Amino acid sequence: MNKSNPQLVTAGTASAVQEDTPYAYRDLALKSRREIHILKRLVTRFVATCTGKSSLLDKKLAEFRELLHVTQDVSPLIPRLAIIERMVGQHDMTQKKVESHLSAQFHASGETLKRVPGLPAQLKRDLRDLLSQPADDQTTRTQQLVKLLQLYERAVTLQAVRPSARHSETTLEQDQIRRVADELQNLITELDLDGEAGQRLLDIRQQLLEALSPATIIALTLESLKLILEATHAERRASQAFLAQVNDNLIAISQQNTRAYDHAHSLRQDHQRIDTLLGGTIANIERDLSAPSADATALSRSLAHALADLKALADENEALKNREQSLVEQLAHNQNQLNAVAEQTMDQRRRLGDQERKLLLDPLTRVYNRAALHDRLEHEYRLWRKYQHDFCLAVIDIDHFKEVNVQFGHLVGDKALKIIARSIYQCLRDTDFIARFGGEEFVVLLPDADETTRTDILANVSHTIRQLPLKFKNQRVSITASIGATLFSGSDTPTHVLERADQALYQAKNAGRNQIIWC
Ligand code: GH3
Ligand code: MG
Ligand code: MG
Repeated sequence: MNKSNPQLVTAGTASAVQEDTPYAYRDLALKSRREIHILKRLVTRFVATCTGKSSLLDKKLAEFRELLHVTQDVSPLIPRLAIIERMVGQHDMTQKKVESHLSAQFHASGETLKRVPGLPAQLKRDLRDLLSQPADDQTTRTQQLVKLLQLYERAVTLQAVRPSARHSETTLEQDQIRRVADELQNLITELDLDGEAGQRLLDIRQQLLEALSPATIIALTLESLKLILEATHAERRASQAFLAQVNDNLIAISQQNTRAYDHAHSLRQDHQRIDTLLGGTIANIERDLSAPSADATALSRSLAHALADLKALADENEALKNREQSLVEQLAHNQNQLNAVAEQTMDQRRRLGDQERKLLLDPLTRVYNRAALHDRLEHEYRLWRKYQHDFCLAVIDIDHFKEVNVQFGHLVGDKALKIIARSIYQCLRDTDFIARFGGEEFVVLLPDADETTRTDILANVSHTIRQLPLKFKNQRVSITASIGATLFSGSDTPTHVLERADQALYQAKNAGRNQIIWC
């Protein structure tokens, strides 16, 4: 204990020196002991500070500290101290290299982080500030490294979150692709083309009901466009051929008519000529018969002449009759040709009429399609504006219809849609209207329907669909529908009302389906 107290040490040794040494030597010895003591303290502290830099150095320092405590004379320890000093010097050099390496690494890592795409502006600003700060000592450099690590952590966290953003982007794209597929499917449903193109379009529509890759949907869209374009061209060519045919027929009939007219005209002239000749012959006979000086021979000669003239005229008349007959036949032929052209145009009118009707009918369910809904909605809307009666619009969407397709296939799904459409139609009044709005979605218009009427009709629709005796592969298929309904009111337009009914339908779906929501 006393060893550590310089004052006690000094007092204890002073009395011993006082007995056998002169004062000067005693003072020197005392001074030396004090210095050694201070040196020991300093070295002990130095040793403590240097500990932990390297294991070899630690070992040397531990040995040195042991010796320092047990020895009274420091001089033999000087060579050991020199070794330790050299080792510390080497360690300092290594340390400097490490620091320089750390500094280089700090800047390189900072620059790397700077180049990471999509970092938030604030993080980039913080990074720039950090990299521009000087680091004069090891402590500052260490703090900077910690900050850089924190920035890396922020960036890594953001990158880890980003895949879910990417995921939602992909989901969005998939939604858009699904919408394109649905829309194309609806358009094809409305087209109803004949022939091979029509069959191929039906195949495409079938494919569109399944989950498809974007590339396939693009390919199918292009193919559909081509088919529709070809069908349009074919339709145009058929119309042109028809018009050309009618034109040729009309020209031929017109030429035949001109010839018949010329024929009739020449017949009339010939008739007139024969009439004149006949009149002349008759006049000659009368003149000869009434001539007072006529003898029998002259009379006979004159009558023979007249007879020959009459015979010639009779022959000519016969020829005229034949020509008249052929004129009548030609006129009859012309009439037939005119009738054929009239029949052709009537056919074409019927075909156009059929096409027009087809344009408004959904080929699968045979109820009206979207184009027809648009027309009818406009019409009923105008009536509502004028008379302000209760005008109800409802959207009916079959619940989980995808499941029907998945479980039983699209053909069964198609069949179910036909049956559903017919049963909805049968629940409506004559003045109501039903259209297939999309895949498994129908819109009904109930004009002039008071509260009881409209709620009864829609409840009946819902009930009828639920009760449909659908059976496929000996398995009973239960189908329900969700219905969103609304009334026209205030400054509503058809678009507003359709949107509102759609929202009501959405609520019905969210509320568990198989129900009617009014909005
Ligand atoms: P939700 O109850 O939400 O309405 O479910 P859902 O499966 O009925 O609705 P979603 O709109 O997701 O899918 C509608 C399905 O209807 C997609 C398609 O398989 C099917 N579908 C659409 N049009 C037709 C069609 O003309 N024939 C067949 N068989 N299925 C169709
Ligand atoms: Mg739907
Ligand atoms: Mg549905």
